[in-house]
Amino acid sequence: MEINDFFFKMPPLKTDPIIDDTTLRDGAQMAGIAIKPQDAATIASLLCEIGTQRIELFHYQEPDRKAAKLILDMKLDCRVAGWCRATKKDIDSAVDAGFEEVGISHPVSFVHLQAKWPTKTPEELLSSLVDVVEYSAKTCGLRTFVHGEDGSRADWAFEKKLVNAVADAGAECYRVCDTVGIGLPEVDAPLPLGFPAKVKALKAETRIKALEIHAHDDLGNAVANTLSAVRAASGLYDKIYVNTTCLGIGERAGNAETEKVLLNLYLHYGVKKFEGKTQKLKQTVDFVCQAMGITVPPNKAIVGKYGFTHESGIHTHGVLSNAWTYEPYPPELVGNIRHLTLGKQSGKAIIKYKIIEVTGSYPTDETVAKVVKKVKAVYAQGKKESLKEQEFIEILRKLKVLTPQPIAQIKQKNRTELCIDAQAEPKKETILA
Ligand SMILES: [Zn+2]
Repeated sequence: MEINDFFFKMPPLKTDPIIDDTTLRDGAQMAGIAIKPQDAATIASLLCEIGTQRIELFHYQEPDRKAAKLILDMKLDCRVAGWCRATKKDIDSAVDAGFEEVGISHPVSFVHLQAKWPTKTPEELLSSLVDVVEYSAKTCGLRTFVHGEDGSRADWAFEKKLVNAVADAGAECYRVCDTVGIGLPEVDAPLPLGFPAKVKALKAETRIKALEIHAHDDLGNAVANTLSAVRAASGLYDKIYVNTTCLGIGERAGNAETEKVLLNLYLHYGVKKFEGKTQKLKQTVDFVCQAMGITVPPNKAIVGKYGFTHESGIHTHGVLSNAWTYEPYPPELVGNIRHLTLGKQSGKAIIKYKIIEVTGSYPTDETVAKVVKKVKAVYAQGKKESLKEQEFIEILRKLKVLTPQPIAQIKQKNRTELCIDAQAEPKKETILA
């Protein structure tokens, strides 16, 4: 079996999905996050290695400006954009920091417009936004995106007017923002909630040349929404930007995960440019978490420790026979590792595998049965967590399956030469008592 048996089944995309990672902007806005400039530079470099083509940064505080300078100076094979509010002062700050492109954020929903500028009409606000976009694109010569904040609650007639106005003012891309995460991925979901409907309406009724999707995860739909927008853009736009963050970090419940969107684009849609890059996904996310002081939830898809951990008898037996039984793809594809752990539901297959792993020799069926019985007895006494390796070694010693040796020595001797073939017959006479 191989990966082609299960993936690459969707019709090829007729649009180029571009990862525009905002880990260092929206991600850094998550409560309690601070990041050192040198770490930000390492993150940018790793993002570039996994196939990110655009990175979004802040540039207001001194550490952000330092990080921006380090990243711009690295001349990565990746565009770098400064995030701005709709003021000329912010554009000047971006120019001063060395950016050649910016994204200008401005609300499009009446909820936001009225709450933030109660004395101004939507038309007055639109006119000042157009001024700033012209200043950015035409006066300063910056590649300019406009981010329509709270687009999934916007009045379509007003949003459409705004998109056409900023396109005429020089914006090359409009970012659809699902700021509070209530958007929907279904093709029949209506405006302003439905991402596919929004993509189609933008193509049919506006003059903007490119689109971007920025989805929040308040209802858990951020990845599905992002992918639905990519699908909707297929055949309509030559490219579509997806604004994502590592581990989905970001405001409140966070954003669509870079690693999930990227892996779906590769595995399901066969986006070739990610071939050979997915292997660094775990390393990249792990570094982001380490630099930001976050713990990766163990059950997190792709990068979590439990992503490829098997403990129950049925699962470990299946995986030992053929890893495809309980794994969607090999852990190496994303830089993760398979773990087979011992617990209350462990059966003969995993115990046999672990005995071989620890001793380097093949046990008899009788020995396996003895060890299974002992492990079950440990759990019958109320143990909850997985059996630690030292605890398992102690069991083997007590049952005289293992002669006393320092643990480090045992590990060194056996670790490297073992593979998952506990089902195989022993090649030599190394059968234990
Ligand atoms: Zn956001």
